[in-house]
Amino acid sequence: MTHDILALDRAGSPSRWINVNDAAWYYAKDMILGDCGDRTVELRGGQSVRTGGRSILRINSIVFIKGERVLPDEYRRPAPVVRELLFQRDRHICAYCGDRFRGADLSMDHIYPRAHGGVLTWMNLISACRPCNTRKQDRTPEAAKMPLLFAPYVPSRNEVFILSNRRILADQMSLLLAQVPKGSRLHA
Ligand SMILES: [Zn+2]
Repeated sequence: MTHDILALDRAGSPSRWINVNDAAWYYAKDMILGDCGDRTVELRGGQSVRTGGRSILRINSIVFIKGERVLPDEYRRPAPVVRELLFQRDRHICAYCGDRFRGADLSMDHIYPRAHGGVLTWMNLISACRPCNTRKQDRTPEAAKMPLLFAPYVPSRNEVFILSNRRILADQMSLLLAQVPKGSRLHA
């Protein structure tokens, strides 16, 4: 299984994850402005009629794509809340008992309960194991006497890039981590 390629816009801002085939397409269309990763994947091209040899395409782990542009708005807008990303943000740890769980055994707990108007936002959601979630019921942590062991936060754009790729390479990680706010748990 090959890793994903980190696509940057022409200014060097992370734009999206693409797979090796997408990257090959950009290389073929001459839309790769440059690269800066430490790793390459080699893809074998077709056989040359003239020489009989096969062409080899080297695809870098981090590429700049021509015409790609991340708008300032995209930086400001928080990513939508996704279950698995939330668990990744919280390191798969239940915020009430502090134990670690598989994603299948965790739930998204509304800190301020839904029954009382609590909303589905990064700041109002925390990972909780099922027994803790059941014990808390429709109560606030204070009312349930179940204080949070860690605080929720809104992940930055680059954090979401990191959290959403489990096969991230060291070079991709260091590029993305350089722009993650200092307070993030990802630095821990
Ligand atoms: Zn728990």
